[in-house]
Amino acid sequence: MIPRQFSRSHMLAELRSGEPFDVLVIGGGITGVGVALDAAARGLRTALVERDDFASGTSSKSSKMVHGGLRYLQNGDVRLVYEALRERRRLMQNAPHLVDVLPFMIPIMTKDSVVSKKIARALGSAMWMYDFTGGWRIGKFHKRVNAKQAAEHFPTTNLDKLSSGYLYYDAGADDARLVVTLARTAAQRGAVLANRCGVVGVTTDAGGQTNGVVVEADGDQFPVGARVVVNAAGVWADDVRALDEGANPDSIRPAKGVHLTIPWEKVRNDIAVIIPVRSDKRSLFLVPWGPQADGSYSHCYVGTTDTDHDGGLDDHQTTAVDIDYVLTALNDALETTITLADVTGVWSGLRPLVKANAGDEPMGKTADLSRQHQVAVSDSGVVRVSGGKLTTYRKMAEDTVEIAMQQLGRRRRASRKHSTKRLKLIGARGHRSTQPGTQVGHLARRYGSLAAEVKALIAFEPALGEPIAPGHQYVLAEVVYAARHEMATTLSDVLERRTRLHIFDREAALTAAPRVAALMATELHWDMAETEHQLDNYRQLCAAEEAAARDQLAAHITD
Ligand code: FAD
Repeated sequence: MIPRQFSRSHMLAELRSGEPFDVLVIGGGITGVGVALDAAARGLRTALVERDDFASGTSSKSSKMVHGGLRYLQNGDVRLVYEALRERRRLMQNAPHLVDVLPFMIPIMTKDSVVSKKIARALGSAMWMYDFTGGWRIGKFHKRVNAKQAAEHFPTTNLDKLSSGYLYYDAGADDARLVVTLARTAAQRGAVLANRCGVVGVTTDAGGQTNGVVVEADGDQFPVGARVVVNAAGVWADDVRALDEGANPDSIRPAKGVHLTIPWEKVRNDIAVIIPVRSDKRSLFLVPWGPQADGSYSHCYVGTTDTDHDGGLDDHQTTAVDIDYVLTALNDALETTITLADVTGVWSGLRPLVKANAGDEPMGKTADLSRQHQVAVSDSGVVRVSGGKLTTYRKMAEDTVEIAMQQLGRRRRASRKHSTKRLKLIGARGHRSTQPGTQVGHLARRYGSLAAEVKALIAFEPALGEPIAPGHQYVLAEVVYAARHEMATTLSDVLERRTRLHIFDREAALTAAPRVAALMATELHWDMAETEHQLDNYRQLCAAEEAAARDQLAAHITD
């Protein structure tokens, strides 16, 4: 397979060429790009179409953990945790530049000056179980720390009540960066991938078997032939099924999860901390974010909620009710008080949870629904992969492509050479870990060995080495790089996903937007009207986010 230039116009030309693909994937989230990479790695002629931007759905809005999920053990989902921890290890080996070890602490607090022995014992057992289910693969076992050590990690908590803590190790990654890196790796293996190219129809042959799709790109519709079509549309999977099956089967139960970003200085936790939510016995992650050279961080984020979402799939803002839930739990865990005024960024995503039976009314908590993925085939032969987790994307892809191989009449299992188990993502080879918080470290953790390409832009034009926004590590060269090499086609692509400035600090992103738009205009040949249009779109997105938090705050207070 010939490596493809990751350019949208080249990719669209390939899609229009009329030559059918072996596999065409619908959806450019982590699941879809994982499937495209797996298929391309096996030498299949592969295409992927994404109607918005890569990772614009759930895959840029996760908690950014590459983890087994301690709480899934509590739900008895041992298989999921085992699989996820095995995949965590693989991803750390295949993308060492993108995945960081993330130490966690569960603080143990006293109640009326007494530590509940029952809780401490239960936690201890859960820790051992996590280690034995595969936590050990990270090279470290959990450990108990005393009150003084726990306080060093979480100095802003109620120290009078802090009796000790459990430390254990998981991993984290920038979800949207992982997706775009996977997409580029798939292109390197010959896959054709395009964003802003949505499927509007599924085509069938005389025998009623699917033989391709109709896509819409830049206002134009055209057919793309494929021997196997894969529906990896996440929470939108039912809409795609409607195109194929004629009716929406109502098989997905979208569960909303929000996160808030606050300045790190307000919390000063040097590792991720799990904090309890008293109202419903859940827990939230409090994660330090944006490492600085002195060992501090610029921000931390906290989340997530887990609630049924019955509104539109494209309309799920972080509301005041969500913010109130998160801040109440956070403030319960802190000595200080964090308010809405401290929140610098928010994000809201929908988990594509699969109902036990299509059409069922939502019952029980969404948090209790399994995160196991499912692969199924429709009557017309469309392969569907649903559910799952960011962490398990590779296994989900492997299972999906094995079914696709069966449809193609090929050998199911990939040989060692064609398997993704040890397939390094672009930037992994030659990557050297460097000091976080420096410009070199920042670029290395985002691009791996490809950081050299970003540095070359700066060497050519030193002004591109300036930060996009004061106090943030993203540099202007990353904007140029995103437009040239990462298929960023809108201002939001760069501010929301290629960089994460929008969710770190919305105000800083708004201030930086005109400068970023001007750079993109040069790269993408936008005229004045288009540049203004891009700025308007981004400002509207920010205004809608702000309004959702404030409007409903008023309603919430009135209630
Ligand atoms: P998506 O990312 O939504 O991708 C589907 C894509 O299909 C979208 O980009 C959409 O635009 C596209 N699409 C839809 N219709 C069409 C069409 N007609 N034509 C073309 N394209 C189309 N997992 C973890 O492992 N770790 C975590 O820490 C974690 N935290 C989470 C926290 C939250 C709040 C949420 C919501 C989820 C979390 N998850 C986590 C789960 C994980 O994020 C999801 O399982 C995963 O991102 C789903 O990816 P996906 O590709 O299936 O869906």
